Formats: sequence, C-alpha cells, structure tokens
Amino acid sequence: MSNLNTDQQRKFYLKTLGCQMNEHDSEVIVGILTGLGYQQTENCEHADLILYNTCSVRENPERKVYGQIGSFKMLKQQNPDLLIGICGCMPQQKEELDQILTTLPHVDLVFGTHNIHRLPELLERAQTEERVVEVWDDSKGIVEDLPIIRANKFKAFVNVIYGCNNFCSYCVVPYTRGRERSRLPKDIVAEIRQLADEGYKEVTLLGQNVNTYGADLDQKATFAELLTMINDLSGIERIRFTTSHPKDIQDDLIEAIATLPKVCEHLHLPVQTGSDRILKQMNRHYTSAYYLDLVAKIREAVPDISLTTDLIVGFPGETETDFQETLNLVEKVKFSSAFTFIYSPRPGTPAAKMPDQIPEVVKKERIYRLIELQNQISHEYMQAHVGKTEEILVEEITTKTCELSGRTRTNKQVLFSGSPDLMGQLLHVKIIEAKTWSLKGVLA
Ligand code: SF4
Repeated sequence: MSNLNTDQQRKFYLKTLGCQMNEHDSEVIVGILTGLGYQQTENCEHADLILYNTCSVRENPERKVYGQIGSFKMLKQQNPDLLIGICGCMPQQKEELDQILTTLPHVDLVFGTHNIHRLPELLERAQTEERVVEVWDDSKGIVEDLPIIRANKFKAFVNVIYGCNNFCSYCVVPYTRGRERSRLPKDIVAEIRQLADEGYKEVTLLGQNVNTYGADLDQKATFAELLTMINDLSGIERIRFTTSHPKDIQDDLIEAIATLPKVCEHLHLPVQTGSDRILKQMNRHYTSAYYLDLVAKIREAVPDISLTTDLIVGFPGETETDFQETLNLVEKVKFSSAFTFIYSPRPGTPAAKMPDQIPEVVKKERIYRLIELQNQISHEYMQAHVGKTEEILVEEITTKTCELSGRTRTNKQVLFSGSPDLMGQLLHVKIIEAKTWSLKGVLA
C-alpha cells in the first residue's frame, strides 16, 4: 500500500486522547489492525496509516487535534498512499464533523465511537475511495468478541456499560457515546474468565456511570451483583471500576466494596463543585450535603478507602462564593487526589449557551488556588503511607529509572527496585518515601 513500506509489514500509528473508554477502544483498534496484518509504530513518519482516536470533553485537546493532523499534510505529500483517519468522540458531534471535513481535506477516513467494528471494511474502502466518512448516531447493539490487544499484560480494561443517560449540562458524552447500554453479565464474566486464563490479575470495569449497570437489561442486574460474580472468578485478584455518579450509589455497592475481598478500596466519585446552586445548573441531581453524607457513609463502611474526584472551576455564573464552597468541600472530604478542570464550553451542550461565562483570567486564578489546596491534601495523604507495608501488583518497568512500578489497592503508584521477574506478581512493599504523585518503596 505505501511506497515507504513496500516490502515490509504495513504500519499504523495510533494516537489516543481522552478517557479510559477511549484507551480501551484503542485496544480494540490495535486488535483489529493487527488482525489485518498491520504492525504498530511509535513514529508517524514510518506509518502507512495514521489514526487519531479523539476526545471531545475539553476544548484545548480538540484544537490541538486540528493542528497536529493539519501538519500531516506534509507527510501525505511525501507519501500519497498514506491514509489518515480520525475516529472517536470528535466526529460524533455534527459541528466538529463538519469542521474536520472542511478544514482537513487530507483526512481519508472518519468514523465514530459506535462503528469501530466496521474498521476493516472502512479501511478497504479508503484504499480506493477519495474519502470514507461513516459516523453512526447511535450504536446498533453491542458487538461482542472483537479482537483486543491490551496495553498491559496483567491489568485489563473491561467495558460493562456504554453511553450515558445523565445529560450533565456541560458534558458532550451523552451526544458522542449515546444512551446507556449494558453488556450481558455472562459476556462480561466470559471475557474476564478468559483474561484470568491468560494470566491477568486485575480488571478495571468501565462505564460512564457503572452504578446504573444492568438497569436497561431485560433480565435486570445490579452493579453490586456483577461485582460479586467477578469476585468469584479464580485467577483475578483485584477488581476496580470507574466512573460512579454520586446520585446512583446504592447501599449494596458500598457493601460490595466493604465485603468482597477482590474489590479494591478506591472510589472515583466526581463531585464537580461544592456549590449547590452550580450543581443544579450542572444538572447533577445532588447537593453538597448529600455528597458529604454519602462520603461519611462510605468511609464508615470502608475506613481505608481512597476517594478521588473530578472538579470543574469557572462554570457559567460561578461566583467567588460558589468557588469558596468548592474549596470548603475539598477541605472537608480530603480527597486523596483530584482531576481539576477549567470549564470550557462544548458546542451543543446547554451550559455553552448559559449567560455569564467566566473570564479566562478568573478561571485560571481559581484553578491555581484549587490545585494548591488539593496538592497540600494529596501530599499529606501520601505522607501518611510512609512506614506502612502495602500490597502492590507489579505492572511495568519505568522507562526513565528502570524501577518496577505497581499500584496499591488504593491505586497509588509505588516505585521500587527489583527483578523484572516480579512483573505480574502481588507483593508487599514497605513505603519509605512519599512524593506528591507516587510512593517509593522497598520489597518487604
Ligand atoms: S454522568 Fe454527566 S459528566 Fe458523566 S458522562 Fe454522563 S453526562 Fe457526562
């Protein structure tokens, strides 16, 4: 196909932006392309196919995609057989799709989040057609048994529910990923059993809102029931999940975290803001008091749990008082870490049309204050680990320092020296030093 790789295996370069859902979609893309005889390359200049799996959640990364793909025009001039594709969340939005098609004429292939399984056919058409664009508004059912080549040999992402029904006023996900569709428990269990047979030790169950898992199935199931089924599978040692909408956390889930031995003591529970007024504007369906009560209930049941969150600053209409309420909530909860975001309007969402958008300078000043506070709290949280012995799963060797890297059950990274043979093992490590984002340990 390419005049660069005429007598070699065809190569693809895949760039993944965004959340773990996208990372996992990329694992499926790698599986499909490998099955078609392609080999992955980290150098886009060596590729016969360049594919960008895009994210729409924030504005800045989206702008960068246009810049980066724009720069591939040169590569295309040098190698007219090169195929350039865009997939993921950006093409799922009408405005972005139009912009991709008009401003990036050298893009050959565009598809969305619902038809990744159609990649072999789309790619074949792209060899002969000027441009192939196939974006589905919604999925036509869940496609099982797609090939997947996972990025890690010991821990795996497993989708349990696709889409979202919540329509938070700032978020594009319900538009780009469609309504909630749960996989059947038997399909999820079969996938995880297979992973256990292949030597995987840890699974992270993925969904925009895993707490509503099973509500759309003919034979209703709950997420806690699913956790119980997975907990019974031998070989799998750890179960994680993300993301949980606070309004949908039920007591049976808290009990499952407290009692099922393989379910790790970490809960990502996005609060977004501490202001009830802004929570209402965000369409989040809870108040800060409800959230604090929920945190207290979870901590009572699982005292060692690590709580992490997402926070947005500068939502339209956010006053200094609203922002103070966010700082107060962060002080009270003491999250072990938080993803902090500056609000950016996403076309097509209600919040983008709200009056009183906050000036960038104010948003920046607020996010610095929020990060400073959270960093102090994270630092204290990490320091409290020093001297303790933690169970970790050894996941990889760091490229910079060649140390082994693993994670505690509470999802904190631990670096330590040891033999590469320890990869994939559950070990106990004594923590000797805490940094803001990682811990240093020695084998216990
Ligand atoms: S719950 Fe809200 S923020 Fe999360 S994906 Fe759904 S709409 Fe977006």
